[in-house]
Amino acid sequence: MMSGRAKALSAFVAGGDLKDSVFHELVEALPVAIYTTDAEGRLTYFNAAAVKLSGRVPELGTDKWCVTWKIFLPDGTLLPHDECPMAIALKGAEVPTGIECIAERPDGSRFWFTPCPAVVRNAEGQIIGGINLLMEITDRKHAELEANEQFRAIVETTPECVKIIAPDGTLLFMNSPGLAMVGASAGDAVIGRNVYDIIALEDRNRFREFNERICQGEKGSLQFDIVGLKGARRHMETHAAPLRHLDGTTVHLAVSHDITERKRGESAAFLLGAIVDSSDDAIISKNLDGVITSWNKSAQRLFGYTAEEAIGHTVAALLIPDDRQEEEPDILAKLRKGERVDHFETVRRCKDGSFIDISLTVSPVKDNQGRIIGASKVARDITQRKKSEKRLMEQARLLDLSSDAILVRDGQDRILDWNRAAEKMYGFTREEALGKISHELLRTEFPEPLPGIREILLRDGLWSGELIHASRTGSRINTLSRWVAERDNKGAVIRILESNNDITERVRVQEEVRRANQDLEQFAFSATHDLQEPLRSVKIYSELLAKRHGDTVDEEARKFITFVHSGATRMEMLVRDLLAYTQVAKFDAPSETADANEALNGALANLGGAISECGAQISADPLPSLPVHGMHLQQVFQNLIGNAIKYRSPDRPPLVHVDVERQDGHWLFAVTDNGIGIDPEYKENIFGLFKRLHTSDEYSGTGIGLAICQRIVDRYHGRIWVESEPGRGSTFRFKLPA
Ligand code: ADP
Repeated sequence: MMSGRAKALSAFVAGGDLKDSVFHELVEALPVAIYTTDAEGRLTYFNAAAVKLSGRVPELGTDKWCVTWKIFLPDGTLLPHDECPMAIALKGAEVPTGIECIAERPDGSRFWFTPCPAVVRNAEGQIIGGINLLMEITDRKHAELEANEQFRAIVETTPECVKIIAPDGTLLFMNSPGLAMVGASAGDAVIGRNVYDIIALEDRNRFREFNERICQGEKGSLQFDIVGLKGARRHMETHAAPLRHLDGTTVHLAVSHDITERKRGESAAFLLGAIVDSSDDAIISKNLDGVITSWNKSAQRLFGYTAEEAIGHTVAALLIPDDRQEEEPDILAKLRKGERVDHFETVRRCKDGSFIDISLTVSPVKDNQGRIIGASKVARDITQRKKSEKRLMEQARLLDLSSDAILVRDGQDRILDWNRAAEKMYGFTREEALGKISHELLRTEFPEPLPGIREILLRDGLWSGELIHASRTGSRINTLSRWVAERDNKGAVIRILESNNDITERVRVQEEVRRANQDLEQFAFSATHDLQEPLRSVKIYSELLAKRHGDTVDEEARKFITFVHSGATRMEMLVRDLLAYTQVAKFDAPSETADANEALNGALANLGGAISECGAQISADPLPSLPVHGMHLQQVFQNLIGNAIKYRSPDRPPLVHVDVERQDGHWLFAVTDNGIGIDPEYKENIFGLFKRLHTSDEYSGTGIGLAICQRIVDRYHGRIWVESEPGRGSTFRFKLPA
């Protein structure tokens, strides 16, 4: 059974009974071109609109497939009539709806249309004819093409990169500015290829996700780097939206902007901001009315105001003390003239009312047309510098007050400072001395090689000793020099303060005394030596007199002879001790060390008689060897132990102990007894020559023993002293070099 609609159509196509019907008139009146064909495609009917559209009157039953004269595809290719949509439909194939074609009229004019071919089948389903409606779309098409053209023009003239990307990253379109940005000389260098390849590696994943999101229908923006075909890196900012593509898929339409320069500017500004903020100096900017426009962290630290408190206020109101208000108009006037204010030292007031010394550098700031619009100010806190300048000046004044020549040297001995006394002492002015190597200028004679002195200075931080300097006129100056080193935190000497006290006169006197002493010693030695002989005669003859003539002289004469004898004996002792005393002065520095145990044993052997006579007990710790003459050490032991026995207590047998301990590079010896002790009042006295606390009747002696000990110890730059408790005993201590 044929459907009603098919029946009507087949009747219409057959052109039979409908010809005169109202329907026919209706079709004729329709503004749409309609025609029909038989199964072979031969035209069976066309309406007036078809004639008008095609610009021709086709021949019914002869013309095939189309009413139109010539037919083209949208890209301009000629379509043979037997391949036109109607022909295809009549061959039983599917014709897609909405296809667009171009037709040419015999007069050469063209129009756009959309065909709607349909076939008519009989009850058996055989094609018995076709009907086609041609809808003209020329106006729409022209409008579309125009819009397309405009779009193209916009896309090509915009400086931005316009691109279309497929969901898989294939670049479907890119405008010429875009091609230039990626360094492509022609579109095919990138179009059709994967856009991910030109995205910087670190941004590639982000970009892929972004592309996928846009292709899923989202809008968005992204910043990323591209590395162009020629290797140039650019920073891009893109704004993207989804776009329905011709094939029905959603693609990514993007307008991207090259923000490399902007980024560079931003990062330069950021860097500058960071530098300004991290500066130790207060950095402030102000306009030409003196109103503060920016304020860094150090400005806050220095003046106490936060940026919020400072910005918008004038420098004059906020910072300038009342008595310095006239400074700001001057500064502003200079700025207006484009001049700079350099290292202007002044005072500013802080938030807490305190004043600080600052050094100001103010420079004009210009806009990009070169107009001066304000100023940048760098304020440096110089309070500390001012304080130290003041301190230095005070110190310099103090140095000038000193009567010692004071010079300050750097680590290389260059003179940095030179006080008045130095000018006076050496005859060189400060200007002449500054910068010179001190020991070259003063032709210094050192008591030991300079490297050794430097070593001590480095170790102890100070050194002192006697130096000989030469003045400007060449005269020799003996100085007692004291050096104090100032070291840096690594311990290196950076400055040395050298203070020189003129001891030329003292050295001269000392030398004279030394010479006089030498003469005296020589005299004492010869005198004592020469006295021994006559003394011995007096002693011998007084003994002979007593022996041979004792019986013949009276009692009184015998008494006198005894006096003469004991006087001579005593005198002999004195002379002997004095001789020993003078001998001490004469010795050279020892060439080897002496064993103190041997020295002690020698002394004990000499004292053997006295020791056994009184039953004294002598003990000693093991003693060291030390750089002194053994004879000297023996003399000291002999005198001290001899005294310990001599000044023993009548109540107890004498006990003497010798011990020693090491102390600060010395040996400290002690000879302790349990004798009568010494009144503290006399403990200094007893070391003097001929100083005795007892008469010869009580204890024999000359008062020279301890003086000899002192002299010996002195010769080795040591010291001897006594600690004692009267009635209980004494300890004699002496220090000798180790
Ligand atoms: P001397 O023994 O010949 O008198 P010294 O110079 O040896 O001369 O001693 C000086 C004085 O010091 C002695 O006269 C004595 O008074 C006192 N003295 C010395 N050693 C001791 C001692 N161990 N105990 C008490 N007094 C002493």
